[in-house]
Amino acid sequence: MNYRNIVTALIHGGVSSDPLTKAVNVPVYLTSTFGQSGLRTAPQWEYSRTGNPTRAALESLLAELEHGDRAFAFASGMAAITAVLMLFKSGDRILISKNVYGGTFRVLDKVFNAFGLQYAIVDTQDEQELNKAITKEVKAVFIETPANPLLTVTDLKAIADLVHRHGILAIADNTFMTPYLQRPIDFGFDLVVHSATKYLGGHSDLIAGAVISANQELSERLAFIQNSTGGVLDPFNSYLLIRSIKTLGVRMDRHTGNAKELASFLRTNPAVLKVYYPGFEDFPLHDVHMRQAKNGGAMISFELRPEYDIESFFKNLKLITLAESLGGVESLVCHPASMTHASIPNGLREQLGITENLVRLSVGIEDLSDLKDDLTQALQKSLKA
Ligand SMILES: *Cc1c(COP(=O)(O)O)cnc(C)c1O
Repeated sequence: MNYRNIVTALIHGGVSSDPLTKAVNVPVYLTSTFGQSGLRTAPQWEYSRTGNPTRAALESLLAELEHGDRAFAFASGMAAITAVLMLFKSGDRILISKNVYGGTFRVLDKVFNAFGLQYAIVDTQDEQELNKAITKEVKAVFIETPANPLLTVTDLKAIADLVHRHGILAIADNTFMTPYLQRPIDFGFDLVVHSATKYLGGHSDLIAGAVISANQELSERLAFIQNSTGGVLDPFNSYLLIRSIKTLGVRMDRHTGNAKELASFLRTNPAVLKVYYPGFEDFPLHDVHMRQAKNGGAMISFELRPEYDIESFFKNLKLITLAESLGGVESLVCHPASMTHASIPNGLREQLGITENLVRLSVGIEDLSDLKDDLTQALQKSLKA
């Protein structure tokens, strides 16, 4: 069933109750296999790698939220991205936007490269450069918008149009926005991937991933890959994710409201050299972002002035935790240069603008004044003597 508003779909979308008992929550089907009534009967459920009712409920919910044909739940975001990359073969080339998630770069560079799948890094903001890079080996363009960690915006419709003129696939990692804020399939994308570990899960208590396909042909190929390679999400985490998604709307409203305030607040702080936040009217491609997304999101990056010590800033935070990951109810900070983007070679990293003094902040849903107070005191204490 399709609901007019996503707020309702978050709660009632997909399979929203148990058809057998009318329990309002989808039961957790902790079973590896299902009894069959006879030979050659083609049962709906046969083995939980192939399909499990709890995972299927999550998958139908995700497909509905992203306006896709089908969705596939995986044991992590990287397992989901890996499944997508398995659509290609030796000799093919994938173009990835610069600033793509470090793990996406690493799996292409260190794992798929060994199987002959090539990649090249392109500036997806530059259509001419992208157009030139699409040679006959190129089979897909993989982007993130806003991209990690400088929140670089890419025009979804422009990319989808250009990529389709070449008859190849457009793939978006929609982890930072979630379908509540942005739906790449609406702009013509073929595949959407998620680290559901982040906002979809929202409570920093699970690892999960998803792929959403825009058409039946891709759905069939992905179902085959998911079953053949087996990186599936288990029933209990599937249930937890359904539970989390019900509150995605209220969480995102609070996350993004806090982020908007904090971004402006950080801009006025004497310790801060620069703030990256797509919600700023003067942010590069702000109007493109606002055309394709509901608001500026809840990720902010900022650079400390050279007179401030980055290590002491992290040490002095009391409420905000230094940790990998993002998208949970609690605010987290990370140091992209040594954490999320450590797998990108030094020279390239600096060139991308991921400097030593850059901080990435995942704004949580705590009280805004408490967050401001924590940032203010930690910034003050980090002024070098
Ligand atoms: C975390 C993340 C991933 C990887 O997901 P895991 O669930 O950690 O495997 C991929 N893309 C983005 C944008 C991420 O933030």
